[in-house]
Amino acid sequence: MTAYDPSNIFAKILRGEMPCHKVFEDDVALAFMDIMPRSEGHTLVIPKVPARGLLDMPADALGPYMQRVQKVAAAVKKGMGADGLTIQQFNETAGGQIVFHLHFHILPRWEATSLKPHTGAMEKPDVLVANAARIRAAL
Ligand code: 5GP
Repeated sequence: MTAYDPSNIFAKILRGEMPCHKVFEDDVALAFMDIMPRSEGHTLVIPKVPARGLLDMPADALGPYMQRVQKVAAAVKKGMGADGLTIQQFNETAGGQIVFHLHFHILPRWEATSLKPHTGAMEKPDVLVANAARIRAAL
């Protein structure tokens, strides 16, 4: 398995070297807004353990991490007033992974509304600030 590379963008966010719109943090996980959201309120939850993907995540760290994924998912749904959620996790380039630090995507969904395509367009900072505040208020 390919080794974890600590120069990835999410490792930089964890070390405070890059900014993010934070919604949750404790000793296990950090959650922040996806900068190119595929739905309004698209949030990422990453573990503090340096794992590349699901398969190299230490098994004993997985349970506590998934508890944080569930907690943040509930706040995303409530804070964004969503009808449902799509939760995604990609492994390796062939699996659609772009950033090689384990993360779950929490995508709020509304009836009859499709996910936006991944265009590479960055969301306006004030939108990310507002959505992060809505989600934090629901935690
Ligand atoms: P994946 O690796 O699961 O394919 O997706 C990585 C996700 O990280 C994408 O949805 C992308 O929009 C997001 N992303 C990439 N770079 C940054 C960044 O610098 N900040 C934030 N907040 N999200 C990012």
